[in-house]
Amino acid sequence: MNPFDLGGRTAVVTGANTGLGQSIALALAEAGATIVAVGRSAMDETRAGVEAAGVSFHEIRADLSTTEPLKGIVEETILTCGALDILVNNAGIIRRADAVDFTEEDWDAVIDTNLKSAFFLSQAAGKHMLERGRGKIINIASLLSFQGGIRIPSYTASKSGLAGLTRLLACEWAARGVNVNAIAPGYFVTNNTQALREDPDRSAAILSRIPAGRWGQPSDIGGAAVFLASSASDYVHGIVLAVDGGWLAR
Ligand code: NAD
Repeated sequence: MNPFDLGGRTAVVTGANTGLGQSIALALAEAGATIVAVGRSAMDETRAGVEAAGVSFHEIRADLSTTEPLKGIVEETILTCGALDILVNNAGIIRRADAVDFTEEDWDAVIDTNLKSAFFLSQAAGKHMLERGRGKIINIASLLSFQGGIRIPSYTASKSGLAGLTRLLACEWAARGVNVNAIAPGYFVTNNTQALREDPDRSAAILSRIPAGRWGQPSDIGGAAVFLASSASDYVHGIVLAVDGGWLAR
């Protein structure tokens, strides 16, 4: 028995068309899971990688800036795949401005996508998982779940909130067979960090603080997701697992 085997499981991954979501979908597929990728645009690259791993790929087009599509995502997954075993709340956005200038629009947009939709999708998936007495929910948090950061007030609030929700849901659902945990990626090379990487001062300052001596590549994230999605983590509840090249150890 391989405790990391995901054969026969179905995983919903939001924001699976690029970056960390795409890498997580590929890693779960390589471990054997059927992938339901949720996103706003075509996910052909992710589809190709998942199918190359020899498992099924389904795509659901949805805009997660509102709660409107969330129940439908769960219903369609169960209808198409028979069950929903793993949910990865990965979709997220970031808006940058000094706190004194930060707009209500930038506040609401980030909180709605990163926190509100993640909670209500977890609620919809959680109902199904609790009925079955099993399930795995993985929230993609951030170092801003632990630290303040600068110029990203709604992002820090959303990711700190997501860490809190991870613990709350774990407390409510752990005894009922559902594991809720989070991954806190450090600084990864994706669209999310493009502005930082284009700023030579911030980019150098960040790199100099990472004990591993390099930024994370999307392929660095998949192992943690497979662990938290598999029976290897059956007694792991409510953690926020940093995958950060040692940033928080500094
Ligand atoms: P990314 O911008 O490449 O990916 C974000 C994904 O979310 C995309 O697939 C995008 O289409 C999707 N998305 C955004 N808004 C959506 C909406 N309204 N409806 C549906 N999908 C939507 O960046 P990424 O770095 O891969 O980000 C993935 C997650 O990782 C995010 O939650 C981000 O906050 C988190 N994260 C990233 C880093 C990093 O260094 N890159 C660090 C910590 C946390």
